[in-house]
Amino acid sequence: MSRHPSRQRLQRWLDTGESRRVDRHVSDCEHCHEALEALTELDVEVVADLQTAIAPPADLNDRTNLGVDDRLRSEAAAGTFADLFLIPWDLVHSILDPATDSDTAHQDDVDADGSPR
Ligand SMILES: [Zn+2]
Repeated sequence: MSRHPSRQRLQRWLDTGESRRVDRHVSDCEHCHEALEALTELDVEVVADLQTAIAPPADLNDRTNLGVDDRLRSEAAAGTFADLFLIPWDLVHSILDPATDSDTAHQDDVDADGSPR
């Protein structure tokens, strides 16, 4: 068995999948399998620690959520405004189109909603 890859190399292999030599080595090296498991467990712990460390205080979290709520509300209001704007625009079209289309001068051929029978 050739030399075991260093921890850094194993970490790099975990991160990037490089290199093929490490790939081949760990595929049949019990020792490096254990080392990789340890590295993976360490990663999980590090991630958990980081999440605890970067988690904002509860009150800050509340304030952020309130900010998001305000934003969502104003976006919903903007959406409602767009709807109010778009629906009359469609109505304007359906009202104007038959009047500007000479074929629909024959009102008997057209339903009340403007669609042909
Ligand atoms: Zn090894």
